[in-house]
Amino acid sequence: MKWEEKVRRVVPYTPGEQPKKAGIIKLNTNENPYPPAPGVAKAAAALNAEKFRLYPEFPEQTALAKALAARYHIGTDQLFIGVGSDDVLSMAFLTFFHSDRPVFFPDITYSFYDVWANVYRIPYERKALDADFRICPADYKEPNGGVVFPNPNAPTGVRLPLDKVEEIVAANRDVVVIVDEAYIDFGGTSALPLIDKYDNLLVVQTFSKSRSMAGIRIGYAMGQPALIRYLNDVKYSVNSYTMNMAALELGAAAVQDEAYFEACCKKIMATRARAEERLSGLGFVFQKSSANFIFVSHKTMPAGEIFERLKENAIYVRWWDKERIDNYLRITIGTDAQMEALYRALDEICG
Ligand code: PMP
Repeated sequence: MKWEEKVRRVVPYTPGEQPKKAGIIKLNTNENPYPPAPGVAKAAAALNAEKFRLYPEFPEQTALAKALAARYHIGTDQLFIGVGSDDVLSMAFLTFFHSDRPVFFPDITYSFYDVWANVYRIPYERKALDADFRICPADYKEPNGGVVFPNPNAPTGVRLPLDKVEEIVAANRDVVVIVDEAYIDFGGTSALPLIDKYDNLLVVQTFSKSRSMAGIRIGYAMGQPALIRYLNDVKYSVNSYTMNMAALELGAAAVQDEAYFEACCKKIMATRARAEERLSGLGFVFQKSSANFIFVSHKTMPAGEIFERLKENAIYVRWWDKERIDNYLRITIGTDAQMEALYRALDEICG
């Protein structure tokens, strides 16, 4: 068909499977195994459907923006709120990566980056992680059209110390550097304090992991007001009302319960520490993870085979049939009971 010649063709991002069957142990998409803070359920019960006939407020004027600004000690003019960090990152790619030079990101990283680069026609270049899956700051000092990387990185879980993050930001003052901190609350050090010093740094975080709200879709970016203004200009040129009323209310309730948030992150980090011990005992090797998942390889059994066998046992983890990582499994840290079921299954499969 003639019209097909004019279609903007893209290869979309493939998210992890969301099985419909009951009884699956789902350790494949880095969701939090615990519910959101109790205040979120209360706020959900208090939602007033009568108000839904009105358009929502602009996010920057809401209780959610005020709560986030207070929590992170920034102004609401240093905050951009979107529909999950995917929306925030997508808008940031569209706004800040507008150069003939390639945008740099790691060869092993969040597999949405090349998808956004392709859909927006942004040139890019992947920089190889070292043999221990570490980002090498020296690689990011050549001329480029911008830089983006997750810290901790995904799917490896390996974190980059703050001084190395700063080295990359400082070496790239002429472009925007986006640090994707989707997993920062599980043991990394946020680059947020650097935003005062660097006007080219954008720090992106999400409610999907540490705040147990992947289904509600809230993400945010923090940076100097000029960066945020440019982001808003593009966002308001695409869609004015991205954040729905319910998300704005429920998000504010989540941020207000700091104690619950901290306890939840601690619990996951404790389960991760036990997972390291148990998985080593079962013959797995891995780098130290600072995220709510662990990226493991078995000493003798191929990852693809373990993946299939786990699936037969109703345990879902993530496996990519991709260069350099095809012998690895990414296992989300679940509850202790879910992890025990995983160890039992692994013991049978490869013990
Ligand atoms: N960044 C990274 C590194 C991720 O792994 C994810 C989760 N898929 C996201 C961003 C996006 O998460 P969300 O849109 O749910 O905030």
